[in-house]
This record gives sequence, C-alpha cells and structure tokens, in this order.
Amino acid sequence: MTIVNAKEMLLKATAEKYAVGAFNVSNFIQMKAIVQAAIEKNSPVIIQTSVTPSKFRQPDVVAAVFKTLAAEAPVPVCLHVDHCNEVDYCKTCADVGYTNVMIDASHHEFAENIRQTRIVSDYCHTRGISVEGELGTVSGVEDQVVVAEDEAQLCDPDLAVEFVEKTQIDLLAPAIGTAHGVYKTKAPKLDFDRLATIAQKINGSGPTTPLVIHGGTGLADDTVKKLVSLGGSKFNVSTELKHCLLDTTYEYLSVNRNVYDPGKLDLAVLEAIAGVIKKWMDLLGCTGKA
Ligand SMILES: [Zn+2]
Repeated sequence: MTIVNAKEMLLKATAEKYAVGAFNVSNFIQMKAIVQAAIEKNSPVIIQTSVTPSKFRQPDVVAAVFKTLAAEAPVPVCLHVDHCNEVDYCKTCADVGYTNVMIDASHHEFAENIRQTRIVSDYCHTRGISVEGELGTVSGVEDQVVVAEDEAQLCDPDLAVEFVEKTQIDLLAPAIGTAHGVYKTKAPKLDFDRLATIAQKINGSGPTTPLVIHGGTGLADDTVKKLVSLGGSKFNVSTELKHCLLDTTYEYLSVNRNVYDPGKLDLAVLEAIAGVIKKWMDLLGCTGKA
C-alpha cells in the first residue's frame, strides 16, 4: 500500500530539486496509464481531477479506483482534486479518500482567500490529508475557474509568506505567469525571479511548503527545467493529456472504423497516455525517485 498525501512526497522533491508530475484525468484508462508509467519509471506520481469530472464520475468512485490501483503499485501515489472553489466539495473529497485537496479561493480578496483556505486546512489536517492553496491567479480556463489574461495577478512574495502562515497550507501555488490551456505564444512571459524569491522566503531554510507550478502544457523543456531548479516541485499537466486522449481516439477510429472492439481502443489510449507521462517524468527528474 503506497497511498500518500502530497506533502510527504513533495518535501523530498523540494529538498532534492526535482518535481513530481500531477496529471489531470477524466477517466479510469488515464488513471491506469499513469500508475503503470509510474511503476515503470519507479517514480512518485500525483493523479488529479478537476471538480466537474470528479462530480460526474462521483468522487467516491474515483477514490475507490485510485485506492485499488495505488494499492497494487510499489511507488507513492496521491489523488488530488484541483482548483476546487467550493469549501464543501473540498471536504467531500477529503471524506471519500482523496489524499490532497486544492482549495482555490484565489479569486477572492486576500482575507477571504485566507479564511476559506484555513477552513479546508483545518478539516483536512485532522484526516491526514494535505492541502494546496493558490495566491495570485493563473490565467486561462481551468474547469470552473476562468481568468482573463489581463486580469491575472501574480503572487506577491511577502503576502505568500503571510498566506502560508495564516492558512497552514501544505503546498502553495504562486501565480508566476504560467497559464492553463494552450499558450498563445512560444515564449510565454514567466516571472522566474518571482518564483525564486518566493522559494527563498518560504523554503530557504529547508523545505516546509512545496511550491506548485500550474499550466505545464506547452512550456519548452528548458523552461520546465528552470522552474524545477528554482523550486517548483509539483508540476500540473492537464491540457496535453486531454489532447492525447482525444487525438488518439480520433486517429484510432479513423484507421479502425470497422473494428468493434472497445478494448483495442482502450489499449491504444492507455499506451499513448503512458508515453506522455513517462516523457514528463524524465523531464521533471522524478524518474527513479520512488
Ligand atoms: Zn491549475
């Protein structure tokens, strides 16, 4: 049994300067592919769901599949709900077996963000579940959370310290210019110095609160490596996996229009997703770190 919360997994990553991939899923084939890839790469891994697919599949069903897959895996595996902006649904996920919960109250004023995040922290900590909070706003569309690019506000390093202290969160997602969805430019404007300053202020005298980078899809390999070297230790990847799922399905059906065997389509998707996951594990440096 290797089910863990994200904090224990990521403190090690922060100390050793690699990142763990947090891979967004909407179905169980993707979950299976992620666990298989993690076993093959001997890597820790985080499976995450956005709120809408979690509700649609039912959170207890998602958690039950996760528990079964993770129990068979000799590597640390965590189940995370991403960008949840409802305190009650954070609690629901904690109750049914998610091991990390992100309360995203970043669209609220600072004090209200602290208030809601602290409620989730207190609730989850009595259950051994770690909590991620966000300060500043990541642009783009992420399930229920929509932020226009020009409204995106980056994370203030001093407020980040205060936010962590007052909310007691385990992981911080500081907005540093990464975006959800597909980047419109080849060289998105990222504030590396800001990330370095936040990492120094929060984890400078030893890892206490691992930092999360959202919006992994579409970043150049060098950019990913730089963000990891500056202290990003959870790296969220979602859009690339959605594209992989749908493109693989389309391509398979285009070529095999008369093959009425869903299992073969499942296998094609599983192999394609596992390939993407393994590429990310090598890039993030978590291969061999289980
Ligand atoms: Zn995100």
